[in-house]
Amino acid sequence: MWCRIVEARYRVGGDLANRFPRVSPRVSRIWHNILTATAQFSPAIRWKVGDGRTILFWHDHWLGDGPLNIRYQRIFVLSVAPLGRVCHFKVSQGPNCIWSINLSRELSWEDEVDFSNILLELFLVEFNDPLPDKALWSPQPRLGFSVRSCYKWVRRDHPPLQATAMKWREISGPKIPLKVKAFVWLMFQERILTKTYRAKWSLQADILCPMCESAEETSEHLFITCSVARQL
Ligand SMILES: [Zn+2]
Repeated sequence: MWCRIVEARYRVGGDLANRFPRVSPRVSRIWHNILTATAQFSPAIRWKVGDGRTILFWHDHWLGDGPLNIRYQRIFVLSVAPLGRVCHFKVSQGPNCIWSINLSRELSWEDEVDFSNILLELFLVEFNDPLPDKALWSPQPRLGFSVRSCYKWVRRDHPPLQATAMKWREISGPKIPLKVKAFVWLMFQERILTKTYRAKWSLQADILCPMCESAEETSEHLFITCSVARQL
C-alpha cells in the first residue's frame, strides 16, 4: 500500500518494490535522492531466500560471495531475464529443485565452466517457502540495522568530507548568511586553515588537535570525530 501511495505522490516510474530506481525526469528531487541512496546501500544488503518473489536473481546478493551479475558477468549478459526474480528461475520445489536459466545463445567452453559453477551454487539453495524473502543488514546480520553500524559502513569506503565534496550551487540556494555558506563550502573542500592544512604548506609543525590532543586537526576531525568537539 505505501509503495502505491509513494509512487502516486512522487510520480516514480512504476514498481517501487523492485528496488531499481527508474527515475523519470518529472520525479521530485527529494525522491530522486532517496532512490539514489537506496542503490548505494544495496551492497550492504544480503538476502535470505524465502519464497524468492522479491530477490532479483542476478542483481541481489543472496548466493555465495556477491551478486551473480558481477561474479558471472559473461553469463549474465546472455540472460533473457536480466531483471527476473529468484522464483522465476525455479522450475520445481522441494529437495530436487530444478532451475531454468534461459540464455540468448549457446555457451562457449569457457562459459560452460561459469554456468556449471552457478548451477553448483544453486544446488545448495534452501527455500523457506512460504515465508517472504528477508533482507539482512550484512555489516551485522545478527544484530540487524543500526545507525552506528551504517555510519561505520559508509565511513569504511567513503571518507565523509572528501566523498561529499560539495558543489557551490548546492548551498547557494538556502537563505543562509553568505559568510556561513562560504565557511561550509571551504570545509567540504578541505580548505579551512586547520593545523594539518597549514602543515602542508610548512606553516605549522604541531598538527595535533588542541582540544583532544589525540588526533590530527583536520576539518573532518574538528567537525565530526573529535570527542571534545562533540560535547560542545
Ligand atoms: Zn580533537
